[in-house]
Amino acid sequence: MTCDYKALAVAGVQGLTPYTPGKPEDEVKRELGLEKIFKLASNENPLGPSPRAVQAIKDALPSISRYPDGSGYQLKQALSKFYGIDEKQITLGNGSNDVLELIVRAYAGPGDEVVFSQYAFAVYPLAAKAAGAVGVAVPAEGWGHDLNGIAAALTEKTKLVFLANPNNPTGTWFSESQLRAFLTKVPEDIVVVLDEAYCEYISEPDYPDGVALLQSHPNLIVTRTFSKAWGLAALRIGYAVSGSDIADILNRVRQPFNVDTLAQVAALASLADVDYLKQSIENNRAGMQQVTNRLQSLGVAYIDSVGNFVCIEVGDDAADIYQRLLLEGVIVRPVANYGMPRHLRVSIGLPEENEAFLNALETILFPNS
Ligand SMILES: *Cc1c(COP(=O)(O)O)cnc(C)c1O
Repeated sequence: MTCDYKALAVAGVQGLTPYTPGKPEDEVKRELGLEKIFKLASNENPLGPSPRAVQAIKDALPSISRYPDGSGYQLKQALSKFYGIDEKQITLGNGSNDVLELIVRAYAGPGDEVVFSQYAFAVYPLAAKAAGAVGVAVPAEGWGHDLNGIAAALTEKTKLVFLANPNNPTGTWFSESQLRAFLTKVPEDIVVVLDEAYCEYISEPDYPDGVALLQSHPNLIVTRTFSKAWGLAALRIGYAVSGSDIADILNRVRQPFNVDTLAQVAALASLADVDYLKQSIENNRAGMQQVTNRLQSLGVAYIDSVGNFVCIEVGDDAADIYQRLLLEGVIVRPVANYGMPRHLRVSIGLPEENEAFLNALETILFPNS
């Protein structure tokens, strides 16, 4: 008799369905024999990385036989200057995804409740489940977080709350006054994670700066990443900013060398490239306008987004439209796994990429015009 190695896994892990990433460009080229691909599926920075990051990586290449600096000293120094915080408040991660998992591992165990919004980023329920914790999805308000509903869902068993501002995939956001009102309702022994993966893109005056709220809310952890506006998605580097006690705990559970040397030097070099960040933000602002203007003129509905992506309501045949866009060489992201079977999420690209997507979408949706 052979052993059932699936049944042998711990219960939380048995229940997992792997995260579905955006379809890689090479895969589409292989499968469809296409040359030109427009990948607008993973909210990456279409400008490519900062040239300074590329140079820093070249400079560091001869040293890759050595282990990375496990403390991330230089990068933490730079981040602490950047934000005006102490280095002891920072936890570096292999992408902010790593940090999100460290937080669950440190603060939630079997039977504990982890609360998040309906339509929220898929990693929260995944990480909770893997830890054997109970994920509690609070019904959204429209497409966004219902912070009052989330506050009302907290129980004796709640250990963690995840908030995404803005949320991926919906692009919805909440204001500083809404967040402050929420935080005053949360008992101080419940840890609140504020995921600000897209914060650099946002110019709304009432958009809260999570880092500035740490002083008054010691149960808060803010997570940010170099994957989106900073253009380093492949290197896997993100971080948490929190009180130093929480950071101490997170640093105990992370792997000793969880962020590699090339990621550290590239992030450090990028942080100094303010012009690159400005260009990235400007490209996104113009691209969002380009995409939404065209959707409006076509009469196609979408969810207002402050991120570098937008969810478009294409209708009941979204899965089919996704496939037909692929045939045109355009990769977008289906979001049926988020309970949004009528939408597709598209990332803002370069002007010509946005144009290619919009033209393909128009041809598919309105074949006779
Ligand atoms: C992309 C994303 C992240 C993290 O990405 P990493 O590459 O792991 O840093 C985290 N949260 C949200 C909401 C995201 O969309």
